[in-house]
Amino acid sequence: MKRVDALIIGAGPGGLSAALRARDLGLSVLVVDENPRAGGQIYRALRESPVREAARILGADYLAGKALLDRFAASGIDHLPRTRVWQIGSDNVACFSSLAPNPKPGSVEARFIVLATGAQERPFPLPGWTIPGVMTVGGAQILLKTAGLLPPDDAVLIGGGPLLYQFAEQVCQAGGRVQAIIDARGPIAPMPLLGHAVRALRDPALLQRGARLLAALRWHGVRRVGDATAIRISGDPRVDGVHYTRHGAEHTLETSCVLLHAGLIPEVNLSSALGCEHFWNRQQRAWQARYSIWRESRRAGLFIVGDGGGIAGAEAASLSGSIAALEIARQAGKIGEPERDDLAGPLFRQWRRRLAARPFLDALYPPPAECFSPPDEAIVCRCENVTAGEIRRAARLGASGPRQIKALTRAGMGHCQGRFCACVAAALAAQTAGIRLDEVAMPRSRFPVKPVTLEEIALAGSEDRFQRTDFRG
Ligand SMILES: Cc1cc2nc3c(=O)[nH]c(=O)nc-3n(C[C@H](O)[C@H](O)[C@H](O)COP(=O)(O)OP(=O)(O)OC[C@H]3O[C@@H](n4cnc5c(N)ncnc54)[C@H](O)[C@@H]3O)c2cc1C
Repeated sequence: MKRVDALIIGAGPGGLSAALRARDLGLSVLVVDENPRAGGQIYRALRESPVREAARILGADYLAGKALLDRFAASGIDHLPRTRVWQIGSDNVACFSSLAPNPKPGSVEARFIVLATGAQERPFPLPGWTIPGVMTVGGAQILLKTAGLLPPDDAVLIGGGPLLYQFAEQVCQAGGRVQAIIDARGPIAPMPLLGHAVRALRDPALLQRGARLLAALRWHGVRRVGDATAIRISGDPRVDGVHYTRHGAEHTLETSCVLLHAGLIPEVNLSSALGCEHFWNRQQRAWQARYSIWRESRRAGLFIVGDGGGIAGAEAASLSGSIAALEIARQAGKIGEPERDDLAGPLFRQWRRRLAARPFLDALYPPPAECFSPPDEAIVCRCENVTAGEIRRAARLGASGPRQIKALTRAGMGHCQGRFCACVAAALAAQTAGIRLDEVAMPRSRFPVKPVTLEEIALAGSEDRFQRTDFRG
């Protein structure tokens, strides 16, 4: 079996920065990522995107990744693209498989493991969100970056958050159109927002970028609908409209395409399956793993960097990857504590600057109410077709959290293992029981965290890949 000092799972800015720094400090490194090319979400397809004039259309933030990708390509670091990690054992042996059509399983033993698995879009269970023709803004952006595809001109974007506005602007810059943006943000609390605004002034460049983005959307004539409630999507067999209430009047927008976005939440599948301690981050309204300032989790040798450890953006992800690599090098005996601290000082300073505006952004774009309290008819678990009403019924029968709700309704039992419904189920359980969301037990993921065949498990390359599961977690 292959052995490395550090296994890095995820080739976004967090993982690549961790890999490069660890390698520079003398460690052997393997990077595994399910995407065909390095770059993660933000720098996806950067080196081969068919989008001409990428700087103008996709923005300077996108092109900023080129230096990192060039350094990584020139580094000779072992990289397994199109490969997903689906299990990590207590012996630090990770099992992975290359993607179909010819899945090839393998395993690697690593002294240190860095989870750099990024974020996912927050589930936004509006009535009708499962109708063909509805997808997420992130999904539509992947089509633009990788295939140069634009949504239809009558597309309606619903939700809130920087990515929603950024994508609308990218579409307009590329010559496409957006029919309307329905702002579905939750209620904004003005006092905390003002408090955070003062701190956000420490990152004026980010605030200017935001202001420029909104001005550009106005210039392109993109219609913005605020104060919309009771939003629902209609269509059979394909989407044909969006309906909402505004100031007591009902409105309909005819459309063939709806794009949803309600912000990002950390991808915690692996850290959860590994039994790491997590907490409910009230500011970001999501579960997040606990870790030290060096990004080491409570499990020794397991580090969590980038958005997977809390949403902070690409630059902060890069910095956190470098910071983790310094501590890994110290533990591996490659550098001493004084050298680690000297190298880390400037990184921590930059990292604090990059985080200055984050609480302001979190307060400015609270997730839509439907993310926590969808109407009864909305499907919450797409895999098993379970509605919010069914989950509320289970909660009234005594199901106190996602695990119990899963047992009663099958919500969370399907292909995605609850990645797209567990936090909604938890919110519904909390509301029914009259408790706070952070009082609900977080559901624990189980290995394998990705769908694999029995053959892949059998061939994963180790004598003992089956482990006793601690069902108490
Ligand atoms: C859909 C989407 C679109 C975004 N678009 C923008 C944007 O346009 N502008 C912007 O500023 N920010 C954007 N963001 C946010 C930005 O991507 C992040 O802030 C930044 O990329 C975080 O870097 P990271 O290294 O933590 O994770 P990522 O860049 O997300 O990289 C994580 C990588 O881990 C891989 N991975 C996850 N699990 C596994 C596994 N089990 N096995 C193997 N590989 C795995 C993923 O394939 C991914 O490549 C977007 C986020 C998302 C989710």
